[in-house]
Amino acid sequence: MRNECNIIRDILPLYAENMVSPDTADFVEEHLKGCASCRKEYERAKEPRPAKEVSDAAPLLHLRRKLKAKRIQTVILTALFVTALFVSAFAVLDAPIYFPYSEGLVTLKSVNDTEVLLTFDEKVTDFSCTVYEDPYGGDFYYCDIEAWTSLWDEWFAKEQGSLSAAVAVNQIKPVIAMYIPNDGTEDVCIARYEPETRELVEENMNYENRVTLPRLSLHIYFLLAAAALAVISVIWILARKKAGLRVWAERIGLYPIAYMISQCIVSGIRWASYSLPRDFALIVFISILLYGGLLLAHNVLRLKKEIREISSRHVAG
Ligand SMILES: [Zn+2]
Repeated sequence: MRNECNIIRDILPLYAENMVSPDTADFVEEHLKGCASCRKEYERAKEPRPAKEVSDAAPLLHLRRKLKAKRIQTVILTALFVTALFVSAFAVLDAPIYFPYSEGLVTLKSVNDTEVLLTFDEKVTDFSCTVYEDPYGGDFYYCDIEAWTSLWDEWFAKEQGSLSAAVAVNQIKPVIAMYIPNDGTEDVCIARYEPETRELVEENMNYENRVTLPRLSLHIYFLLAAAALAVISVIWILARKKAGLRVWAERIGLYPIAYMISQCIVSGIRWASYSLPRDFALIVFISILLYGGLLLAHNVLRLKKEIREISSRHVAG
């Protein structure tokens, strides 16, 4: 019997159950065409086995179960990675692109005793407006206005006209409307609402030279992830002789890796964020998807190794 026949005989039981890859199936078929004795063996493998022989097939059953697990896990991990890819694409397309302040970007109008109407330029597809008391004890309120668009809105959004919003104003204290450009330049004071006269005074000047800085927490989270990975790597190196501990270190270490990849996807290499809650939620969501995928990939690699070992033992025996 030729060497190739030995290989074919090992694969035949799996081939008979349609449990081999298309490439392997091609290889077996090609061989069966030209080899009568293997063909005979194949006919026998296809027949239902008597009970006694089934017990001999225990290692084979074991192998079959592992192959099935490997196949299912491969499908799930692919689905997880594809989902992570879609969420990442969304994160990039939906990322806010803030507008610098310009004339007419937002206009304010006092509509009645209790409200000021904000109207934005048509290019603005989203905005936020936060009213709060001066944190340094000043006798007035701030109204911080941000305006942005996104690649998604630029490419796909329908003409929606100008956005507008009514903002409730305090009856007693003045309200200072600030535009936040979110690009490291100074915030712009657009107008000041005087409750006594119920008038908006245009005040196109920088108010107290205020600059809104990006939130830097992402730097800290990234460093924490890197530190965790470093600690786990040390454990992995020290656990050279403890295979079980090593596997667990690998499983845990995959999360910081998934986190760091997700952060790079969502906030690029500039981790300073003007939209921290949004960015952080997306980073965590994508990192969980990636982590699931990586864990399964890790498991599939181990299964592959075990399957190889079982097969070679089978051949040796
Ligand atoms: Zn043969």
